Amino acid sequence: MSNYKSSLAFALEQDQKDELYLYRNQFHIPKHNNGSECIYMTGNSLGLQPKQTKAYVNQELEDWATLGVEGHFHAKNPWLNYHEVLGEQMAKLVGAKPIEVVVMNTLTANLHFMMVSFYQPTKKRYKILIEADAFPSDKYAVESQLQHHSFNAEDGLVLWKARENEELLNYEDLESILEKQGEDIALILIGAVNYYTGQFFDLKRITELGHKYGCMVGFDCAHGAGNVALNLHDSGADFAAWCTYKYLNSGPGSIAGCFVHERHAYNKNLNRFAGWWSHNKETRFKMRDEFDQLPGAEGWQLSNPPILAMAAIKASLEIFNEVGMDKLIKKSKRLTGYFEFLLKQLGSETFKIITPSNPDERGCQLSIQVKNADKSLHNKLTEAGVISDWREPNVIRCAPTPLYNSFQDVYYLVEQLKTILK
Ligand SMILES: *Cc1c(COP(=O)(O)O)cnc(C)c1O
Repeated sequence: MSNYKSSLAFALEQDQKDELYLYRNQFHIPKHNNGSECIYMTGNSLGLQPKQTKAYVNQELEDWATLGVEGHFHAKNPWLNYHEVLGEQMAKLVGAKPIEVVVMNTLTANLHFMMVSFYQPTKKRYKILIEADAFPSDKYAVESQLQHHSFNAEDGLVLWKARENEELLNYEDLESILEKQGEDIALILIGAVNYYTGQFFDLKRITELGHKYGCMVGFDCAHGAGNVALNLHDSGADFAAWCTYKYLNSGPGSIAGCFVHERHAYNKNLNRFAGWWSHNKETRFKMRDEFDQLPGAEGWQLSNPPILAMAAIKASLEIFNEVGMDKLIKKSKRLTGYFEFLLKQLGSETFKIITPSNPDERGCQLSIQVKNADKSLHNKLTEAGVISDWREPNVIRCAPTPLYNSFQDVYYLVEQLKTILK
């Protein structure tokens, strides 16, 4: 992983050798006010727009204009089963079987729908375990679930915390929480890649541990999908959910992905909310039948899906499918390793990288704690055309994504940091 050099010539050479380099041309890169391309390091927050997205959305607008309701059957990509292709491609991307994945709703909504089924508290076992620094939406969602079931959110929430003066979570601490309270915990919900530190958890290890104590285990993969190898099926997790507008480049607020493990695919006794799209496809349009549960993740859908949003997802997933996660992850490790190398050259007095140094325990994001910095550092970077992400009190998150970021991007990012901090 090493043999990096700190010269610009080295960065240029790496770009030349990079077999994914040309994919950058398939994306719209925002421009800085001097007209040159920004150094876009926030694919973890909002991924860039593939150039083919517009044509895909226009196709559906066109078919709607010319066909009206007939588009359900006669559109170029018939709307009736539009989501099925997406489900299959998405399943590949997250390491799942087609029956385990559906694209529907939005992320936090999916977490709630999953909890309707997989958070079934009893008087004895009702607690929910999350990371202490979970993404706020996840924390609010589980607190409101506790309250919905008439439990006290403070008492019902169990936090997996980092040790004193540490940032990363330790599996031994999770083990000891479960040894003490495992019988009280109904659900474990963890961010597969923590949004703040960039720590990529061992999903299988957490799932096995949770199941040993009889807990349900789910993952929020917002920062994992399209970034790391999730292997959701093999992890054994009961469920997972993720958004598509971060690494998956499908547009602001676009609809989300959802995974339900195959072992639950035919279980009709699970509590769940239903709508006409959870009903058997064969008889859905007879409209008079008794409810007949559709098997697999699709059975959690409620409504007929938004085709315009799905067109953007289709455009993006085709790129992912063409490249494949293996190649993406290979480049990602090399690119982020280079970023880490350059940062370390700057010296440890000013910086601390809080993301794990083991490439298998992170994706492309590095979270950098900058001593004595405030938001003005971030503002100066923005003025210089570097789009990064600031988290109070003193952390900059940068995610060189392998699809459209280059070694040159990383080189210039670190050059700018150097200049501003001087
Ligand atoms: C981005 C993100 C969200 C956002 O939720 P939405 O419902 O899509 O607004 C929630 N949880 C995590 C962990 C995230 O990273």
